[in-house]
Amino acid sequence: MNRIFNFSAGPCTLPLPALEEAQAEFLDFQGTGMSVIEMSHRSKEYDAVHMEAMDLVRRLYGVPENYKIMFLGGGATLQFAMLPMNLMNKKSDGSGGSIDLTLTGAWAKKALADAKLFGTVNLTFDGSDSNFMTLPDPAGLPVTDGVDYVHLTSNETIGGVQWQEFPDTGDTPLVCDMSSDFVSRKVDVSKFAVIYAGAQKNAGPAGASIVIMRDDMIERCPTDLPAYLSYATHAPKDSMYNTPPVFTIYMIAKTLGWLEKQGGLDAAKKMADQRAELIYGAMNANSEFYSCPVDAKCRSNMNIVWRLPSEDLEKQFVAEALAEGMSGLKGHRSVGGCRASVYNAMPVDGAKALADFMGEFAKKNG
Ligand code: PMP
Repeated sequence: MNRIFNFSAGPCTLPLPALEEAQAEFLDFQGTGMSVIEMSHRSKEYDAVHMEAMDLVRRLYGVPENYKIMFLGGGATLQFAMLPMNLMNKKSDGSGGSIDLTLTGAWAKKALADAKLFGTVNLTFDGSDSNFMTLPDPAGLPVTDGVDYVHLTSNETIGGVQWQEFPDTGDTPLVCDMSSDFVSRKVDVSKFAVIYAGAQKNAGPAGASIVIMRDDMIERCPTDLPAYLSYATHAPKDSMYNTPPVFTIYMIAKTLGWLEKQGGLDAAKKMADQRAELIYGAMNANSEFYSCPVDAKCRSNMNIVWRLPSEDLEKQFVAEALAEGMSGLKGHRSVGGCRASVYNAMPVDGAKALADFMGEFAKKNG
């Protein structure tokens, strides 16, 4: 077996022990004579997996009792639609509600496009002026009177900017897309009305989004939505209203179980900072060769982006890195350059290998 350092942005590297456990029990889950993906989602064996996956999210984040955890199909992209559909309150004249949104990059832009279908969206920050390379000061972020909620993207997976602190929006509900830094650091869940994330980065494979929602938000959901599209359908049924994405949820339990054994979110943050220090450190040590376009005060420790002096050198860098056992370093097609996605399961040794390679490559080609 030759496992390489996989820097892909998601789906991405997962903890080896989680994969090995799944492999060992894949054909015969707990002596049932069948795989976990062959059994009824109503069986007691699957039910225990499902509830443990939910409980792990609750334990890791210390999610208060007045929040529900949901596992939903459709990825974080479906949440771009479901959130405004459920939480942008229609006015008595039938017109849509309104929200504030911080336009911080490609993912916030997608959230914006869907929200606009349901009402008014005020951009309280528009990063397009600075090519999405910076974030606003959270303390100075305005909140428009009377909006239904404020939407943030905690980490922009493509641009590589990450909120280091979150704004205090007072009584206005704060809704946050944490797809690419979910369970990578402690957050005070009680400051958020909704946290959501696609599973396929820090939490497991693709196939589900994880939604943490305060009870009063669920109570707001209109009653005239199709069943699957309403949080009020899923929350009281613990995401068992219909057949849930069982394999993904099973792998979430394995992945988050591994994280808990590593020491939970404190350990995740410590490892993330170590990886980021190594990679940004290699850039700084070779600053005539590598440049990081992102404002230093909001550089992500999950998706690290940089440029080389030319596109040809970038291609050569990605190809030579692959030959050295490091894959997935090409930047997103929309922005070019290089990107290392260094999620929870990336060993610090992987970041060290990349940092060493960056140093050698700069020496040879600079
Ligand atoms: N938000 C962010 C920050 C993301 O990185 C992604 C996917 N990379 C999405 C939303 C969309 O997630 P999905 O592919 O699960 O729909």
